[in-house]
Parts: sequence; structure tokens; C-alpha cells
Amino acid sequence: MNIVIMGPQGSGKSTQAELLAKKLNTVHISTGDIYRSIANQNSDLGRKIKEYIEKGELIDDETTFTVVDKHLAEIKSGFVVEGFPRTIGQAEREIVPVDKVIYLRLDDNEATKRLLSRGRTDDTPELIAQRLKLYYLDTVPVLNYYRQQGKLLEIDGSKTIPEVHNLILQSLGI
Ligand code: AMP
Repeated sequence: MNIVIMGPQGSGKSTQAELLAKKLNTVHISTGDIYRSIANQNSDLGRKIKEYIEKGELIDDETTFTVVDKHLAEIKSGFVVEGFPRTIGQAEREIVPVDKVIYLRLDDNEATKRLLSRGRTDDTPELIAQRLKLYYLDTVPVLNYYRQQGKLLEIDGSKTIPEVHNLILQSLGI
């Protein structure tokens, strides 16, 4: 089964993707993690990606397709992906079939509070606000795209980690 986990920054996507992948015995892919590791490389691509991340901007779709294709191409037995697709262009390209999309709902105040306590270098109040703005602009249309396809499963992301995990399993019928 190919599963996408979506939700605003701080909604627990990464934690929940990891737990779910473990439960399903499949691969967990995070485009944010992939990009952070590329940003640490001393290369033209690394420097370019670092600049985008530091500005709180999305990396362009063409670069994202190259990076994601490379990772997804190796996977044969399903995955849980998080951080992708992030734009309607990325969703419509349908690199691989998506079976279900988990949407972790969380309001902006709670999201900001959680991110500030996480302490990642790109978690300054300015960058958090910038990424939330892009989330509404670029990523909410992706939620609607999957909702129209009947693939979206909405989960209350404000609950505790085990509670959200159980709600996800329930909604997938596991
Ligand atoms: P995340 O950990 O998902 O918040 O991602 C961290 C940063 O990586 C984002 O702010 C973007 O700059 C970049 N990024 C991650 N996934 C994508 C994607 N699918 N498309 C474009 N940029 C991305």
C-alpha cells in the first residue's frame, strides 16, 4: 500500500509516518529529510537546496521530481511518504499510484507552539509563518485533489502520538 501523510508543519507527520511504516513493515520516505541531507553536501545542488530551506521556500518541482523519482524507483513493496506531494503539480504527476492520504489536522496556533519547542534551525517564528503561508497556498489544493478522488482520511492531529497512531490505523482499517 502506498500512503501519503499530509498536514501543516508540526502536525506530527514525520513521527506518524515512521510509526506507520514500522507497523506496515514498509519504507518511510521524508522529502524534508532527504533535502536536509542534500543541503549538508558541499555541491552546487547542496548549496541551492540550503538556500531554499533557509528562506522557508519550496524547492522547485523539477528538482523535487528528480530527487523523489530516484528514491521511489527503488521501492517495490509500498511506502509511507511525508512532505511530498507538496504542490498540485507534484500531485498531478503521479510518479507512483497513491492509495490513501492521511491528513493530520492541526490549527495554526498549536502548530506554531509545537514548532517553536522543536528547535530546528529553520524553526524561527518568521520561517514558521512563511511555511504556513505556503502550506495554505500550495499544499491545501493537494488535499482537495485527493479529497475529490475519495482518498483522503482526516485525522485530529491535536491528540497524543499513540492516539493519533491508533486513529490512523483505524481509518485504514488495520
Ligand atoms: P519539511 O521537513 O517537510 O518541513 O521540509 C523542509 C524543507 O524542505 C521545506 O521547507 C522545503 O524547502 C523542502 N521540501 C521538502 N519537501 C518538499 C517538496 N515536496 N517540494 C518542495 N520542497 C520541499
